[in-house]
Amino acid sequence: MGTRNILKRGDPQLLKKSREVTNFNQRLHTLLDDMRETLISANGLGLAAPQVGVLRNAALVVDTTGDEDEIIELINPAIIENDGIQEGPEGCLSIPGVWGIVKRPLHVIVRAQDRFGNSFEREGSGLTARAFCHEIDHLHGVLFDKVAERILSPEEADEYTSDRGAEND
Ligand code: ZN
Repeated sequence: MGTRNILKRGDPQLLKKSREVTNFNQRLHTLLDDMRETLISANGLGLAAPQVGVLRNAALVVDTTGDEDEIIELINPAIIENDGIQEGPEGCLSIPGVWGIVKRPLHVIVRAQDRFGNSFEREGSGLTARAFCHEIDHLHGVLFDKVAERILSPEEADEYTSDRGAEND
């Protein structure tokens, strides 16, 4: 177990498509455990395997809607339903200090597998829906700056992060 290095924009790995996970083995579990530790120490809202240089369809999303934050493990995730629209600032652990306005669905349902290969569906709204979309984009090699309506100026970004507290995916 340990934290892994988070790749930054400019690294070609971040722009590649990840492959399906087919072996739900110890190697996957170690990856997920390391990603969890990396995510917590970076204080992020989500982390995708390609961000730590592993081109596999695996991602973590922090659901902050409950009494306690819950880290959801998503293996081979896909959005199967979406509804509504939200527009708001989004950041990324791979693009530190940069914020952009991104349109996302307000609600989504994600179908994924857990670390043992069992299928499940999970609903997300608001920030959680945004994080699901952002992490699944990573698995397709898409960073948020490519889908942003616009990138915030440093002054706007300062205002946003000081007003609401920084949230990074
Ligand atoms: Zn990201």
